[in-house]
Amino acid sequence: MHCLDCRTAGTNSPTVGVCQGCGAGVCAAHARITSRSVRRGSLIGTPGEAEARTVLCTVCAEAEAPAAAAPAL
Ligand SMILES: [Zn+2]
Ligand SMILES: [Zn+2]
Repeated sequence: MHCLDCRTAGTNSPTVGVCQGCGAGVCAAHARITSRSVRRGSLIGTPGEAEARTVLCTVCAEAEAPAAAAPAL
């Protein structure tokens, strides 16, 4: 599979992940990886939180969180 954003720009880059928003393939340059806390645990166990990973393309990342879409400088 090739990166959709690169394909639109006229180049072909292999994907490193899949956007969880729109399902497009994203390359390393276009992937926006964010983390969120997920509660886990059972009624009898000790509740805790774990970090879950979310992969988004640039378009979905910008739509959901404009700050997260900006490239790190
Ligand atoms: Zn790309
Ligand atoms: Zn997307």
